[in-house]
Amino acid sequence: MITFSKISNINSFVREQRSQGKTLGFVPTMGALHKGHLELMKRAKQENDLLVVSIFVNPIQFNNPDDLKKYPRDINQDKKLLESIGCDVLFAPAVEEMYPDKVVKKYNFGTLETVMEGASRSGHFNGVAVVVHKLFDITLPHKAYFGEKDYQQLAIIKKLVEMEAIPVKIIPCPIVRETDGLAMSSRNTRLTFEERASAPYIYQTLKRARKSNETICPGPLKQMVINMFEAREEFDLEYFELADGENLQPINSWSASTEILGFVAVKLGNVRLIDNIRII
Ligand code: AMP
Repeated sequence: MITFSKISNINSFVREQRSQGKTLGFVPTMGALHKGHLELMKRAKQENDLLVVSIFVNPIQFNNPDDLKKYPRDINQDKKLLESIGCDVLFAPAVEEMYPDKVVKKYNFGTLETVMEGASRSGHFNGVAVVVHKLFDITLPHKAYFGEKDYQQLAIIKKLVEMEAIPVKIIPCPIVRETDGLAMSSRNTRLTFEERASAPYIYQTLKRARKSNETICPGPLKQMVINMFEAREEFDLEYFELADGENLQPINSWSASTEILGFVAVKLGNVRLIDNIRII
């Protein structure tokens, strides 16, 4: 694996590879890698000549400074994992390399960014779009792989690629879960032993919601989920939303869309977790 930290070096390298006709599959991450990340990478490796991974904890997508400070980092362990799956290229830049100047770019994703994570985390998706656009410009991938774990982020990236006419194919990848159902996340390492034991309740609740769509309407179903989280004092529910899988706008009836998902953001102690499930 070749590791780059400078933009100009990796950019020359990928241009050279492209000129030789090699295809590049790219997986952007914030590190603290787990099996969820590795699944995206294995797929990218399979479908392309070269696997390019970035590790960059992007400060401008954190609206909470404490969350940024506490974000888990372990570059040496990450490198071992990347070597183990045959990663070809790692790009791990410093913050000053990515942002030598203050970032002023503002995208407009319309109603995609006013709901759920967008409403809860002001400026978050603009920060994501800025870094992903820049990483695409630097690494020039043919295909880029994103997890459905961050479903709204995936929708934003698809929109970004369309709006800015970026020549990359976005490949959505399914959520990877622990055997007890908890969606894998770098943040899971911050859970205490007790919180980790409670955490599978999130997916259990989502599965219960999926099953209940056969018998109850969206309104009462939302209330059922709220009640289920209120019944467990370790959870602090931020939102549960039923929304269209394309435009992410809330739905009020099951016939409103042919693809409806349930989205949740919940705090367990100091750790904020998100998850989603396809309901219809
Ligand atoms: P992150 O390092 O959290 O920014 O994640 C990097 C990429 O991995 C994003 O596209 C995430 O959606 C994806 N990802 C993270 N966790 C999972 C998971 N449990 N299943 C599938 N994809 C994931």
